[in-house]
Amino acid sequence: MFSSNECWRVSVLGVLVLSLGCNGLANGKWEIHDVNRPQPPIVTPGEYSVEPPSDAIILFDGSDFSNWQSREGDHVQWKLEEGQYMEVVDGTGDIITRDSFGDCQLYIEWAVPEKIEGHGQGRGNSGVFFMDRYEIQILDSYENETYPDGQAGSIYGQNPPLVNASRKPGQWQSFNIIWRGPVFDDNGQLVKPARITAFHNGVLIQDNFELTGPTRHKRRLPYQAHPDRLPIRLQEHEDSVRFRNVWIRELE
Ligand code: MG
Repeated sequence: MFSSNECWRVSVLGVLVLSLGCNGLANGKWEIHDVNRPQPPIVTPGEYSVEPPSDAIILFDGSDFSNWQSREGDHVQWKLEEGQYMEVVDGTGDIITRDSFGDCQLYIEWAVPEKIEGHGQGRGNSGVFFMDRYEIQILDSYENETYPDGQAGSIYGQNPPLVNASRKPGQWQSFNIIWRGPVFDDNGQLVKPARITAFHNGVLIQDNFELTGPTRHKRRLPYQAHPDRLPIRLQEHEDSVRFRNVWIRELE
């Protein structure tokens, strides 16, 4: 048995071990990009597509890039198949919305290339970044294994999707996402972390998940205060991913 003094030391040690152990681990359990993390179960989605409701702001309907720009504020250099979709062009960089958004519902349809090339993270990679820094991953995750916290619908490097609801490459897929941004006080201290709920092809994949901070390859970054409205960013990760039917509803 421990004396009360020893007990105190053991508890302090326990807290230390726990806090060190949690540093870099999600839910105190998994390292970032941990390949031993269980793969989400596979679910075959039903038909699902949502036309914009009357109060939605249309961000892209196939006609032009008027609501988008490069991160440097220049014209978008991605391909426009007029009346249909936009497509990532390798080397032209990410694109962001001209307007800034806070809490919102975002609906977006995307398709990874039909021709299968590459594997893991190198196949149909793109992503939707809220507030320019928090990524929900786009990837060809149909019969293409990668680390679970980096597959389609993951909060990159933090949380795998609940299930893998991916369609085959070339087919149109959708994300319907509810985003609640982080809240900071006047001193820049985090009051409330960001939260995300998301559906992939109509199937729940993120259930009010609390983000641990910005998403980054191989790094779990701490929150840093930022404005409560920022652009939404779509990632150019070399692969020719397509997008269509993009709309947003701002939330209180
Ligand atoms: Mg990505």
